[in-house]
Amino acid sequence: ALPVVAIVGRPNVGKSALVNRILGRREAVVEDVPGVTRDRVTYQAEWGGRPFSIVDTGGWEPDAKGIDAAVAAQAEVAIDLCDAVMFVVDSRVGATATDEQVVKMLRKTNKPVFLVANKVDDVRQEAEAASLWSLGLGEPYPVSALHGRGVADLLDLILSKL
Ligand code: GDP
Ligand code: MG
Repeated sequence: ALPVVAIVGRPNVGKSALVNRILGRREAVVEDVPGVTRDRVTYQAEWGGRPFSIVDTGGWEPDAKGIDAAVAAQAEVAIDLCDAVMFVVDSRVGATATDEQVVKMLRKTNKPVFLVANKVDDVRQEAEAASLWSLGLGEPYPVSALHGRGVADLLDLILSKL
């Protein structure tokens, strides 16, 4: 079976945009309205000639337990089925309480976790990305799913750990 990379994170941080960037096509549904992606969608991807699967998560309908529980539940399932995790945070918003919940879960896995600071569309945004060191997940990797900035370096790194 192909190695599986799961993409987890709050709604609207740009998970699906990142999937599209990696696939090089507009396939994962990106919406201004959070929660458009259904629970989990798997795509076949390739980088540097190496095939892998990428799992986009989303589609949270905040129920009685609220958005935190829904995000956490999705993250838990995705972490279980993958070989590496991309945890996406919106660098323009910074770390939220929901992000902290996901971090607690990510700390429990031995799988490689990559902290992706998305929406770093230009160099001025890099300081905000660096502030995500505070999450305690190691180095935040600044990317712009929208423009492609930083994505190639990140994929090189992730594939080197698979
Ligand atoms: P998801 O809910 O995490 O899958 O987020 P989406 O991929 O649907 O994106 C949510 C919103 O963030 C959309 O309006 C995207 O256009 C926007 N977005 C995603 N990536 C970037 C980025 O790198 N830079 C900027 N400025 N906006 C982004
Ligand atoms: Mg999505």
